[in-house]
Amino acid sequence: MNRRLFLGLMTSSAISAMASTKASDDSVWISDDEVPVFLSIAKKIELVKRRVGSGNFNILSYDDMLKTAKYHSSIGKFTPVELAFMENIFYQNPDIHGFYGKKTVPQITTKINKKDVVKIRHTGHYLFRGHSKESYKRVISDVGRSLYLTSGVRGVPKQMNLYFNKIKRTGGNISLASRSLAPPAYSYHSIGDFDVGKKGWGYKNFTISFIATKEFWKLRRLTYISMRYTVNNKEGVRFEPWHVKII
Ligand SMILES: [Zn+2]
Repeated sequence: MNRRLFLGLMTSSAISAMASTKASDDSVWISDDEVPVFLSIAKKIELVKRRVGSGNFNILSYDDMLKTAKYHSSIGKFTPVELAFMENIFYQNPDIHGFYGKKTVPQITTKINKKDVVKIRHTGHYLFRGHSKESYKRVISDVGRSLYLTSGVRGVPKQMNLYFNKIKRTGGNISLASRSLAPPAYSYHSIGDFDVGKKGWGYKNFTISFIATKEFWKLRRLTYISMRYTVNNKEGVRFEPWHVKII
């Protein structure tokens, strides 16, 4: 389906939800003098991810990220300025960015207990034992094996990694980034939600294109799960049809 035709099939509210992820005048930006610190942190986090592997990185704790950086000279210890910057990002109230979601992770050092999670085969991602994992199994059996887990449990470094990369892609606009990805202390991935996608669709699974798949339409009909970020959600986050609300 071409893009114009596809947009024609969308509701006007879905289109305005997409438009709301455009920069507005009251956006907060990374200041010029913070840019080197920001980029240095983003790079170190990326290097830690490479060092521990993306599967392990999903549930790595903040303290273990710092240790990994410190013990590998190719990465290098986080400096006091970098630590302060990360803490500031973690503990600041994201209201100022137009993000109104609930805080899900109390402390930057909050750990994910390995006993509480299970790795889902062939995905590199984890789910919490119990309700999340059982719901996922049920979803796959109802929708089919063409659906799979694209993102599960995320620890603080993982959410920080996604958030910093998103800020980079917006050219340093923290507010804009916060409306398309939850800030590090506010992700429901840290407490049970997960993302699903269609096999073979890669990055398109995290775009509005996902609603054109038959997998999405089957998913919509399931009564035991729902969508976390619907069109015009009160949290201020873009429409995310791939994100399954669990808790
Ligand atoms: Zn998600």
